[in-house]
Amino acid sequence: KAVVIGSMNMDFTMDVDHLPSKGETVPAVRLRTSPGGKGLNQAVALARLGAEVLMVGAVGNDASGKVLLGNLPKDRIPDFAIKTVDDSTGNAFITVDSQGNNTIVVYPGANYKLDMHWVESFKGEIESADFVVLQMEIPVETVIASIELAHNLNTKVVLNPAPALPLPDYVYTMVDLVIPNETELALLTGETNIVEGARKLLQMGANAVVVTLGSEGCFYKDANQEISVEGFKVNAIDSTAAGDAFIGGLLTALGRHEDIGTAMKFANAVGAITVTRPGAQESIPTYEEVEEFLRR
Ligand code: ADP
Repeated sequence: KAVVIGSMNMDFTMDVDHLPSKGETVPAVRLRTSPGGKGLNQAVALARLGAEVLMVGAVGNDASGKVLLGNLPKDRIPDFAIKTVDDSTGNAFITVDSQGNNTIVVYPGANYKLDMHWVESFKGEIESADFVVLQMEIPVETVIASIELAHNLNTKVVLNPAPALPLPDYVYTMVDLVIPNETELALLTGETNIVEGARKLLQMGANAVVVTLGSEGCFYKDANQEISVEGFKVNAIDSTAAGDAFIGGLLTALGRHEDIGTAMKFANAVGAITVTRPGAQESIPTYEEVEEFLRR
């Protein structure tokens, strides 16, 4: 069982011929609205891949919030831990040009009202969970206090430091697994070398690190071992949510007590499938789809 404490957004994606410059209005050729936010994406990934998931988050009392809540049952995620607050639901406005370049403006809204008082009301669920999963699209004070709470309850803490914001080293001493991508690793450690960067996160106090490497796969390091697992060769068309899907894959495999190398391979398969499909959350596969991919 996993508890995800994180962001929930409504994504508005507009396909444009070229990105607007200052003062310019451009017509979009297509508008897609879909649920997103790293927290919700990871909760959906965990659920589709077989985990029992509690999503702790916040939405506004508006149309986007109702859509997000209404979508949860499709992925068997209960809605009782989602707080409705007096602000807009988190919204992301994305423009994508014909070459695939994008600009994104995010209004965090309700996500920035996810407070510790609300998180603490799920103390029992956090205590009985196998792990708590956090990202950084909610207030940093809530992230830090949630890590402390879970750690004190002896529940494993997994941190996806995205977007990468520096945290005091004592926070890392309570984190069991940190999962950054290469960019986040460089921002957090000042290291562009993957092995050195991972070593630094361990020095800062983390127990173990998995770095995602896009098409190259992923890299694991703890005090005793280093493991590299190559990515799958696929025809990538849209990498949105690949990192979130990967995290769902890694944690569900570890939850099945697979060894770290096997879990990394499973997670690479989940990420690889996700990049072959357009869109964000809708491209995250189910457990059965991953099994089939691995049999091919
Ligand atoms: P993020 O999307 O957070 O930047 P990555 O780009 O590192 O994260 O991708 C996450 C994971 O998704 C990778 O570790 C890999 O398993 C998979 N993945 C991403 N891009 C590709 C690709 N082009 N081909 C195969 N697998 C990929």
